[in-house]
Amino acid sequence: MFDHVFLIDYQDCPPNEKLHSFLQKETSQDIIEFGIPDLPAQYQLKIEILTYKRFQQGIHETNLSASVRQHCIAYSDNAVHCIDYSFLADSMPIENYLMIIRHECIHILQHLATRIPPQLASWLYESVACARAGQKMPRPAKVPPWHGFVTDFSSIPERYALAYEFGTCLLKHVSLGELVKRCKDFVSFKDECEKIYNDTFSQ
Ligand SMILES: [Zn+2]
Repeated sequence: MFDHVFLIDYQDCPPNEKLHSFLQKETSQDIIEFGIPDLPAQYQLKIEILTYKRFQQGIHETNLSASVRQHCIAYSDNAVHCIDYSFLADSMPIENYLMIIRHECIHILQHLATRIPPQLASWLYESVACARAGQKMPRPAKVPPWHGFVTDFSSIPERYALAYEFGTCLLKHVSLGELVKRCKDFVSFKDECEKIYNDTFSQ
């Protein structure tokens, strides 16, 4: 059913049944809700599963900072690149691994569906991905004003906790399909988000 939008390339790694069925279930649902099957056939989600060594080679060619690279097990550009779980089994439960991969897939789907450059709205990308992938985090102790959240997202220490909390409220207001539509008028959607952000953290 998803042959034209959904490609997993295991490269040198043996297929992982748990990952495969998780993506078939959860990511397929994300694909539908973002409306990707309605887009032209070149709008594909590609996922590369790599050995530790090949992942390290790839990540060195990105502009991710050294501190991010150190703990990174997956990243996305025009495809999702991730370390095969066999290299991580001792350090994290498979559930966390699956959530991280789903998070990266959501970044790609959001970009395919909205065409908003991720660097222009990292606050929105991270909020949607953290919330939709279910990466629950404790409520942040310090909440910056809206302006700081959207203009300086990457330097906020508790940015992922903020993103999870705000994203969860945002997705109660709008479905993924609705979010794609609203992003067409990004200025007014951003105003709407500001209100949701202030309501989320005033309680
Ligand atoms: Zn992310």
